[in-house]
Amino acid sequence: MPKRQTRRKSPSRPQPRVAADPRGRARKHHLATVRAPFQRQFEFASEGRWFDLRAIFDRLNARYFRNRLRNYTIAWGRRRREKPRNAIVFASIQEEDRMIRVHPLLDRQFVPQWYLEYIVFHEMLHAVVPDRHDPAGRRIVHHEGYRKRERHYRHYRRSIEWEQENLGRFLR
Ligand SMILES: [Zn+2]
Repeated sequence: MPKRQTRRKSPSRPQPRVAADPRGRARKHHLATVRAPFQRQFEFASEGRWFDLRAIFDRLNARYFRNRLRNYTIAWGRRRREKPRNAIVFASIQEEDRMIRVHPLLDRQFVPQWYLEYIVFHEMLHAVVPDRHDPAGRRIVHHEGYRKRERHYRHYRRSIEWEQENLGRFLR
């Protein structure tokens, strides 16, 4: 089965959920390598410089999902050398692996906690809201039912506005 990846997107835009730039619109043999324990840990680090994703996940899980999401890993994605140019995928979920990844550019001091929580909430919601399909069989992940539940997030409106106003800071 192919890996399934869902992404957030703005309410008014088609998928995939990438925020567009308002301006202009991804053993059998034993291999002995030097690999310190701390480097290993860092592969799936949930603790960033400013935000601890695990703590955010646990809090949202208790508050909005009755702790229904179990055995999930949440981690900062790999840091890239360059900022993206026109669009950025802030987060993604792979449900088979129970893995949520968050873009490391969100681990910044100017990012409000309630906005980062919105990003995490959005992915967590995918884990509990089933997808729908249009008559052509295409998968719809951000359908009306999904959107309705997404608005239950306490700082939803504010988060959408903040995203539109600050998107340029994440792009080149
Ligand atoms: Zn989404």
